[in-house]
Amino acid sequence: MAQMSAITTSVFDLFNIGPGPSSSHTIGPMRAAFDFLERVRALPGEVRARADGLRCHLYGSLSATGDGHGTDKAVLAGLLGHSPETVPQALLDELLEHPGRRHPLPVDGARLDLGPDTVVFDAVEHGFSCNNTLVLRLLAGGEALFEMEYHSVGGGFIQWRGWQEPDLGPPPHPYATMAELRAQLAATGLALHELILANEKALYRRSTREIEEQLDRVMRHMENAVRRGCETEGVLPGCIGLRRKAPTLVRRAGESRHSSDRFLMLVNAYAMAAAEENAAGHVVVTAPTSGASGVIPSLLYVLHNHMELPREAVRRGLLAAAAVGFLVKRNASLAGAEVGCQGEIGTASAMAAAMLAYATGHPLQVAENAAEIALEHHLGLTCDPVGGYVQIPCIERNAMGAVKAYNAYLMATLGDPATQVIDLDKAIWTMNQTGRDMHRKYKETALGGLALHMPRC
Ligand code: SF4
Repeated sequence: MAQMSAITTSVFDLFNIGPGPSSSHTIGPMRAAFDFLERVRALPGEVRARADGLRCHLYGSLSATGDGHGTDKAVLAGLLGHSPETVPQALLDELLEHPGRRHPLPVDGARLDLGPDTVVFDAVEHGFSCNNTLVLRLLAGGEALFEMEYHSVGGGFIQWRGWQEPDLGPPPHPYATMAELRAQLAATGLALHELILANEKALYRRSTREIEEQLDRVMRHMENAVRRGCETEGVLPGCIGLRRKAPTLVRRAGESRHSSDRFLMLVNAYAMAAAEENAAGHVVVTAPTSGASGVIPSLLYVLHNHMELPREAVRRGLLAAAAVGFLVKRNASLAGAEVGCQGEIGTASAMAAAMLAYATGHPLQVAENAAEIALEHHLGLTCDPVGGYVQIPCIERNAMGAVKAYNAYLMATLGDPATQVIDLDKAIWTMNQTGRDMHRKYKETALGGLALHMPRC
């Protein structure tokens, strides 16, 4: 039924557990560096023994904002043998606090150590096909013994030169657009979450139980990030000196005499809490990216703790959110470096709106409309992180994305779903076109917009 190649993205490619502050600038590069390490470990022993150096060159947005995003520390952690899911917080803190310290490369037969000179912030303007490119080289006498060119394509995904889409076989229920997804649901009689689950099981050979357990882990990490952020005072890393605000908002919400203000303040606080944890480089869940990792957790926290929905309903909501993320990833982009912040906060807000509508038992059309409304009102949003840090405007932008998602959910559930003029496919198409037309300086380079007020500090 699908006219274009069918979507084969995993739910857990969107909901990725790993350290902040940016999936494309920390999780992706850490994953690339870890992959490079594994490949170096697989080289013949005599090649490894000849090596006398290792360099990682960062290009484009990784070079422009990688310093503020901690890309160099993420690369080092990957080269030291850690993947984003399991990297110890203590190592990340050590790399941050002692940047000059040297560490042995954990490869048998190679007598190399890694330090601040391992990662080179190279050209911002370049000819690579992906704006977020990193090139890793194992060196001997200045010549490359082994080299890989990686692309961090958003959401923690990586590809490399010559990379080909893995042949996972067709999913049992193929679709590439919302229209095709609707048609599949009508033809099979499946509910949205059942179809997403069936595809995930078939493509990734996971049982329902394994998927539910991983969804529960994702939910736990999301709620933990909200809780930790609501309780943690202090100043975020980096030269801006930005103070955390979430605990103050929670306190003030408790003091507010108006229940409507109280709820709104808490939605803001929850989103900012998780986003502040992300900015601190702590473990969060990409949803769909690290920069936007406060929007869905905020409303997931609302579903659990304010609406008191059962876990099963929230799981269904997360699967509906994933469906929206799949469609954006397939037909536009989740990367700020490709389409601006509309791809990150805009998508997160659309996913969250669908999650709210679906988890609370509304039909598919309402969930789609909620996602469309949320996405529509993020169109054109640029990515211009001040100083290259995922802090300003990112943290408050998560709060705005969460509030807009809640509002979109209200508008979609209160209106007549049949009167919606623009559907989700059209909104995603528009986002893609707007992103392609957007000037490069507004795509995570810190060279335009708000970033001009503090280009680098
Ligand atoms: S402005 Fe948006 S897209 Fe850019 S780093 Fe911040 S959250 Fe991500």
